[in-house]
Amino acid sequence: MAETTDCVVIGGGVVGLACAREMALAGMEVVIIEAEDAVGLHTSSRNTSCIHAGLNYVPGSLKARLVLRGKELLYQFCPEHGVAHRRCGKLMVAADEAGAAELPKIKANAETNGLFDLEFLDPAQVREMEPELAFHTVLYSPSSGIIDTHELMLALLGDAEANGAVLALNSPVTGGRVTGDGIEVDVGGAEEMTLKCRICINAAGFGAQKIAAAMDGVPPETVPAQILQKGVYFVAASKRPFTHLIYPLPGEHGSAVHVSPDVAGAVRFGPNTVPTDGIDYSVDESLAPFFYEAAKRFWPGIEDGDLVPGWAGVRPKTSNERASRNDFIVHDSSVHGVDGLINLFGIESPGMTSSMAIAEHVRSLTPAA
Ligand SMILES: Cc1cc2nc3c(=O)[nH]c(=O)nc-3n(C[C@H](O)[C@H](O)[C@H](O)COP(=O)(O)OP(=O)(O)OC[C@H]3O[C@@H](n4cnc5c(N)ncnc54)[C@H](O)[C@@H]3O)c2cc1C
Repeated sequence: MAETTDCVVIGGGVVGLACAREMALAGMEVVIIEAEDAVGLHTSSRNTSCIHAGLNYVPGSLKARLVLRGKELLYQFCPEHGVAHRRCGKLMVAADEAGAAELPKIKANAETNGLFDLEFLDPAQVREMEPELAFHTVLYSPSSGIIDTHELMLALLGDAEANGAVLALNSPVTGGRVTGDGIEVDVGGAEEMTLKCRICINAAGFGAQKIAAAMDGVPPETVPAQILQKGVYFVAASKRPFTHLIYPLPGEHGSAVHVSPDVAGAVRFGPNTVPTDGIDYSVDESLAPFFYEAAKRFWPGIEDGDLVPGWAGVRPKTSNERASRNDFIVHDSSVHGVDGLINLFGIESPGMTSSMAIAEHVRSLTPAA
């Protein structure tokens, strides 16, 4: 006989944990099912930890809406829960006239999406903020920030547990089925079991497609293709050349690398973009020339030995489009016909920033507690 609960959340990454908290706060009995022996071991702990402001997402997209709301929720939640973060601001840096011509378009797109605080900086301001930066024109986003994602996940989990949620680790979901009066979720691992629930939130990141496809009653044609892209970081070994987020144009996935200080001040460069067939977190040291070359364009003072290999993450995408063009996919019964099932696909960047807003959105799509 299956155990029963109101809500099963599959995946203990930042999105699953935010959803679990949201549902527990709404009064539901929640069980979080995580395959690994700890939460947040995958994409949620292998990212840039940037609180994105919402500059360049397609107007009207889920990303455009949820990133703004998610940022607002994070800036409320973090101080209340002691989550380390810093509203450090982001400099979008054009190196030449051609790049500078792009910046007003970014500002206009941001304003269409409801973000009105971007400003062009004069050169003296930029030199004062970032003395080591080479630039032609800089557009500044004051509401961009950085966060400790581990602390965020622990705080979300703590809140969820304080409201009755239960976390099951070492519990890979292997499949399930839609029954007449709910959803059954099959859990493998040392103690196999089946959990029956009214609401099932599939927040398994790169595992979401496989789970949806293994669930009897979910039309296979509603499960999108999955595309994985690896992103590698190098870190400044002993220097702290920048204190703000630095985003050189041409921007994401081009030959540029981004700079992000972490909450302790260490400076990271990346991620780059490499197609991959699987979950591979190795860091190829032979990428060093690419990182030096990209960094030299805006950090002329960089010297040999300044960068060392960092870490890698894998973006769970649904197309090869840039992250700003490829929207989150949130499927409810209006798409797959299964009451109470929410499938989350392609939760790449800005999924961490949007996590609490995704949870609100998911909650709005589910029947009341
Ligand atoms: C390189 C990179 C940089 C990024 N930078 C940023 C950034 O700066 N700002 C930002 O907002 N976003 C960023 N993102 C995006 C952000 O990290 C993700 O959107 C977010 O972490 C997704 O969280 P998640 O919970 O959906 O996925 P995950 O963190 O991957 O969690 C999914 C969980 O599901 C579990 N799971 C998988 N299969 C199963 C199964 N069968 N049974 C049970 N559990 C299962 C996994 O073990 C995992 O713990 C970045 C992503 C990458 C890759």
